[in-house]
Order: sequence, then structure tokens, then C-alpha cells
Amino acid sequence: MADGRVGHSSDVHDRKALPRTIAIDGPAGAGKSTIADALAQRLGYLYFDTGVLYRAVTLAALRRGLAPGDHPSLAALVEQLHIDVLPPTLQDGRGLTVILDDEDVTWAIRTPEVDHNVSAVSAQPAVRQALLQRQRAVAARGGIIMAGRDIGTVVLPDADLKLYLEATPEERAQRRAVEEQSRGLERPFPEVLAEIERRDDIDSHRALSPLRPAADAIIVDTEGLDIDAVLATIDALLGQRA
Ligand code: C5P
Repeated sequence: MADGRVGHSSDVHDRKALPRTIAIDGPAGAGKSTIADALAQRLGYLYFDTGVLYRAVTLAALRRGLAPGDHPSLAALVEQLHIDVLPPTLQDGRGLTVILDDEDVTWAIRTPEVDHNVSAVSAQPAVRQALLQRQRAVAARGGIIMAGRDIGTVVLPDADLKLYLEATPEERAQRRAVEEQSRGLERPFPEVLAEIERRDDIDSHRALSPLRPAADAIIVDTEGLDIDAVLATIDALLGQRA
């Protein structure tokens, strides 16, 4: 990795000048998790992927046979659930371990069925409201990189650095297909693309906390870039701010 990157022993940046809270937003497949994870490791920060909270609520709702639009039942459900997000407890490719009421659901929340229903569940105001407090409590510890859809706009409007990652739906679907294949999931590409576009649409058009960049977010176009190239772009941004 190049000299001058954040968190290296050769780091030229003054650590005190580094942002303590970093918000990374963007649509599905934009690279948020990979980038946030890599940055968190270099900076020694906590990485929190907020999508897992919405996915865990969706999994619980599906298991109980609740419709994603059943507002009163979802409101009651989200209050009862106990969701824990931990550093990886197994070396099986996971970035985090997600516990739902004592069960490890790290992979169960990544199924096509959860993908298909999560945006409708996430659009429910009661679900968002309940999860908002949990996210802010985690961020209060500082030294955090939080990734999601509304982190810069709603969850952490005062974040020290806000990044908004984007890429075309085709490229994001391609990345998602590769990631799914690595988990043994085979779906036709048009299906993966349609699901990405469907989620973009619901996430961007919901009434509460829609997906959009904060006014003070830096837009990072990741089209055609691999992870190292995106990290280099972000390093350059951090270097300019130091
Ligand atoms: O990031 P990921 O694709 O795992 O997120 C799953 C879904 O959770 C998103 O499509 C969105 O509907 C919801 N979400 C959200 N707000 C966040 C993070 C995720 O609404 N901050």
C-alpha cells in the first residue's frame, strides 16, 4: 500500500486531525462494507454496518410470517428483539457477527428472501425510529465508521467526515453476483440487477430518511475502481483535510 495512507506507521497525517466519526452511505453494492471495514482496520476504529440491523428485523418478521407492510406488528416486534453486532466470531468470510435473540444469524440475514423484503421493512417509521437510538448509542463511543443509507443525513448529521459511495446499478449488481457466488449462491445476473434496482427505488423514495447524500457529503464514484483505488481516493481526501 502506498505511503501516506491513513493508519500506517509511515502515516504523515496527524492522528488528532483524523475524523472521529465517519459516515459512509450509498446504495447496495457500492462497496460501503468493504471500504468501511478496511478503513476501520487501518484507523483502529469500530466498523458498524447498520444494514444488518434492518436485515435482522426483516428475518425475524419473515420467520413470524409478518407482512413487510404490517406496521403495528413490526413496531411491536422491533421493540422485543435483541440484536447484537460483534466482531467476527468465526473465520468464515464474515466481517461481523450478528446475533438475533441468542442465535448467530450472520448468514441467515443474507438470503435472497431477506434481500427481497428488507427495503419494505426498513421503510416502516417505527422500525427506523427504534433502530435510530441503537445506532446513536453505538456511535457515542467515538472512533467509529458507520455505513448505511441515512447515516450522514439522519443518524449522525454531525459526523466529522461523510462519504457517499456510488456506482451504476450494473456494476453494483456485478459485484453483488460475485460476492453471492463466493457464498455458493447462484442467481441469474438479470435477477440480481433487478433486485438491486428495486431496492434502490424503495430506499430512495421512502418518506422517512430516504437514501440520498447529505449536503456536506463527499461523493466518491467507485465505478470501475477496485478497493485499493477507492481507498487511495479516500486517503487523498483525508490527507487534504489533515
Ligand atoms: O446495506 P444493506 O444492503 O445490507 O442494507 C439492507 C437494507 O437495509 C437496505 O436496502 C435498506 O432498505 C436498509 N437500510 C436502511 N438504512 C440504513 C441501512 C440499511 O434503510 N442505514
